[in-house]
Amino acid sequence: MMEHRIIEGIFMVSKCEYCQLDGGYGELIHETDCWKIFLAPSQRYLGTCVVALKRPCKNLAELETCEWADFAETVKKLEGSLDEAFKPTLYNWSCFKNASFRNESPNPEVHWHFIPRYKTKVEFAGISFEDPDFGYIPQPVEKRVLDEVMVKIKAEILKNL
Ligand SMILES: [Zn+2]
Repeated sequence: MMEHRIIEGIFMVSKCEYCQLDGGYGELIHETDCWKIFLAPSQRYLGTCVVALKRPCKNLAELETCEWADFAETVKKLEGSLDEAFKPTLYNWSCFKNASFRNESPNPEVHWHFIPRYKTKVEFAGISFEDPDFGYIPQPVEKRVLDEVMVKIKAEILKNL
């Protein structure tokens, strides 16, 4: 169970619907001035990433203007990359804090779940990725793939980032 843990320099004390399943944000694949992009351990939705603020911050309302501007650029870059790489139908961006507040002293950390959604299945690295929840909110059901497939997903995203 993850309660307090340093992950790539980010002090994570909170959990969320996705991160508690995965035990962390995943593998760091890219950094901007203010944000870090992680490839999420669960690939139920191909290309799922986490975009986490580099500094401790509990609420979106506390983000600096420059952090919002950098986030806007990051959204463009990441969606642009996935458009090239896997051609999802749409993207879900979710900032959950619910699970953190199940604790007596909630301590949420601002991070976004970037979840590509697919109307039709995608074949990649010999695997057929489907989106069994298309048209509905993404489900925090873990789907892991082999490390060698994760390496290929990462490479495909970075190639277009
Ligand atoms: Zn999370």
